[in-house]
Amino acid sequence: MASRADVLASAEVLDKYEPVIGLEVHVQLATRTKIFCGCPTSFGAPPNTNVCPVCLGLPGALPVLNERAVELAAQAALALSCRVNAVSRLARKNYFYPDLPKGYQISQYESPLAEHGFIDIRINDAVKRIGVTRVHMEDDAGKSLHEGFRDSERYTYVDLNRCGAPLIEIVSEPDMRSSEEAYAYLTELKQRLQYLQVSTCDMEKGHLRCDANVSVRLRGAEKFGAKAEVKNLNSFRFLRMALDYEIARQVAVIEDGGTVSQETRLYDAQNNITVGMRSKEHAHDYRYFPEPDLLPLQIGDCWLEGLRNAMPELPGEKRARFVQSYGLREYDAEVLTQTQELAAYFEKAATVSRNPVEASKWVQGDLMALLNAQGKPIAESPVAPEQLGELLALVSKGELSGKMAKQVFARMFATGAAAREIVEREGMRQISDAGEIEKIVDDVLARNPKQVEQYRSGKTAVAAFFVGQVMKATRGQANPQAVNDLLKQKLGR
Ligand code: ADP
Ligand code: ZN
Ligand code: MG
Repeated sequence: MASRADVLASAEVLDKYEPVIGLEVHVQLATRTKIFCGCPTSFGAPPNTNVCPVCLGLPGALPVLNERAVELAAQAALALSCRVNAVSRLARKNYFYPDLPKGYQISQYESPLAEHGFIDIRINDAVKRIGVTRVHMEDDAGKSLHEGFRDSERYTYVDLNRCGAPLIEIVSEPDMRSSEEAYAYLTELKQRLQYLQVSTCDMEKGHLRCDANVSVRLRGAEKFGAKAEVKNLNSFRFLRMALDYEIARQVAVIEDGGTVSQETRLYDAQNNITVGMRSKEHAHDYRYFPEPDLLPLQIGDCWLEGLRNAMPELPGEKRARFVQSYGLREYDAEVLTQTQELAAYFEKAATVSRNPVEASKWVQGDLMALLNAQGKPIAESPVAPEQLGELLALVSKGELSGKMAKQVFARMFATGAAAREIVEREGMRQISDAGEIEKIVDDVLARNPKQVEQYRSGKTAVAAFFVGQVMKATRGQANPQAVNDLLKQKLGR
């Protein structure tokens, strides 16, 4: 879909302004049970079956904090270089909505779990640091179902299964200056959380939700403009498109002599526009107060250290290590560390082949191409990483040419058989043995005296003819380098 943004403001006009963006990201923690009760968090259960008095907000029911949720939240905070507070508090955020039976959300307000973090993103080969203001814990609300029922015209249904699902909210500083930077920030954030297995970050299931705060100001201006908070961004692509649209809309409002109003807007993906939803509510509207049913959350140094030690290598560390110890280019390291599974596959293949740069090329090239063609994730690759490694080792040893290796690999992918098995079964071995090739070269030269004459009289282009003849005689199995060397030697004489 073409962006509607260009209708609103020309590139020159847009260029006079600087966008300012801050993201608020909600992530569902991958716990088995909810944050304050023992109900399962499983997705897709029949409506209103994963519920109990606590998450239904029945009178007298008391919440108990899920320790696993705190562990995951704290690990997420550590991975964002936040300071985890020794004491944090849960607070009630009061509002009225049909999917919120308690009448309040249990969140954190004045003392959040963690603060003062950052994420470094790469933009045009430069590193830019985006501040993470805070990470706090909260419970999720249920879902209002506006469609899918016979009488959806007249009624809205409510499913409370999601009530009490554990969330963290990650609030960034208003440090981003373009939709690309916001995209890069969210990409890096998601990758880290997936490495940690803190969340599946599955946007389709609502396990990762992003609200974007946007304002614009004249370039060089010091003060931020009034911001709009754009909701309903349920893919990375929509985040970028919504931001581009909203930036252009605000510029157009200002250029028309108007003022941008502080409000909450909804992204309409179908039309690629944002639509005003309500004027922005303020913190005081929510009547925040400390949650009286839960103690302050105390986190000890030892406990936190234990969590830190249990953390896996994060994407940035892995990237740096791939460049350092395998001699990969920055770009290749970035591609290969997109997921832990891909990175592990590459490392195994690299180790077995003893040729990391080739392994990187093959994983990103032939393997990815075949996997993508079949829509398969790396975890379902018919070729195990060790098998790819063994194939590449055969090439390194000169037993297979690069061209043959490609054919062998395609067979491996189709049949799951090992490289050596295919090579032997189909007689695809490369002939590198000098003695063996010499016999064939001699034979070819003896049978083609006229061409030998031509070569010696200066028409060196006939060399290609000899190479072709040798290849024909060996069904393409002779090592081309060895053939070339031998021909030069013999014909030079
Ligand atoms: P509010 O009081 O409206 O909740 P906050 O200051 O708490 O605003 O910020 C909420 C989010 O909006 C944060 O991610 C922050 O970085 C971002 N933000 C704040 N001011 C602006 C602005 N003028 N333009 C764009 N984003 C902003
Ligand atoms: Zn419950
Ligand atoms: Mg705020």
